[in-house]
Amino acid sequence: MADSFTAFVIEDAEGKPKGGFKQITQADLPDHDVLVEVAYSTVNYKDGLAVIGKGRIARKLPMVGGIDLAGTVVESRSPDWKPGDKVIVNGWGLSETQWGGYSRFQRLKPEWLTRLPDAFTPEEAMGIGTAGYTAALCVEALEKWGVIEPAGKPGAKEVLVTGAAGGVGSVAVALLSKRGYPVTASTGRPETHEYLTGLGATAFIDRAALLEKGPPLQKERWAGGVDSVGGITLVNALSQTVWGGAIAACGLAGSADLPGTVLPHILRSVTLLGIDSVMAPAAKRDAAWARLARDLDKEKLKAMYEVHPFSDLPDLGARILAGQIRGRVVLDIGR
Ligand code: NDP
Repeated sequence: MADSFTAFVIEDAEGKPKGGFKQITQADLPDHDVLVEVAYSTVNYKDGLAVIGKGRIARKLPMVGGIDLAGTVVESRSPDWKPGDKVIVNGWGLSETQWGGYSRFQRLKPEWLTRLPDAFTPEEAMGIGTAGYTAALCVEALEKWGVIEPAGKPGAKEVLVTGAAGGVGSVAVALLSKRGYPVTASTGRPETHEYLTGLGATAFIDRAALLEKGPPLQKERWAGGVDSVGGITLVNALSQTVWGGAIAACGLAGSADLPGTVLPHILRSVTLLGIDSVMAPAAKRDAAWARLARDLDKEKLKAMYEVHPFSDLPDLGARILAGQIRGRVVLDIGR
């Protein structure tokens, strides 16, 4: 193992968090039981906030960013893991309270590790990343709630995906379409329609149409939905959901507000399913990754992500916050 290696470290700069590349050594890493050589990480929306120093993602400094990683166990003091095991980590406070994936090597708690599914290479797993695994949690939740019409049933109602061309949205479109549901993609980028059609979207709605405040009960349209935008978009999605339907909400790319009424909930039995991936227990993670292994077509996954060298991270962080990333980005930590 190299004496020193590159990490993206967020430090205190006159009271403000500031990130940059730094050489660190193994002695700098936290004293957790499993040492992993990181092959790939990703840039999620939350990573963009941390990299650019917005939103106070890192709750203690110095902090190594990166909420995701995929790599190989190098050393383990845990009976659950041995050198050579291929693993992924999503969330668990990485880049917030725990050092994360933007480092060639990282020490981690054994319970944070998920075995890399056979279906995916480490690069592909990071092509999915927290955004994709969260999309899978959303689809799991909708199906468990029993709101989505069975695939192929005549007259099946549409399922809405907002922020469709983003990371969560792209994977949600692909997973829902594989299950046979008619998927309406809401996007502000018409140039992504061909890409989203390739992932399985069957109809489109301009994101501006969902950004206009409407009445609390609108024409019933969606059997269910996956929302990564929040704000008025989420309120409109709930107001347009059929009796007994549900929206799985996981994001705030548009807004953290929820400026709506209780009417869809108390007059149409509409459910708002809240989805958090960070502290999801192992059983939910395993179910989500099993769904991804089963339902995410490899060609669709390949169309969804681009691989970038680690050095591109600051630029990618700015671009994801500006809504300029289509699908997902993978960071090659060794490059
Ligand atoms: P991306 O930036 O990849 O995608 C977000 C998409 O939202 C954009 O591509 C864009 O879609 C749309 N969007 C952006 N800004 C606005 C706006 N002002 N108004 C309306 N739509 C907008 O991010 P991710 O997919 O990685 O993450 C999406 C959200 O989900 C984030 O808020 C993130 O923090 C959250 N998240 C939450 C998780 C959890 O555990 N709860 C886990 C993972 C993510 P388009 O161009 O198609 O219009």
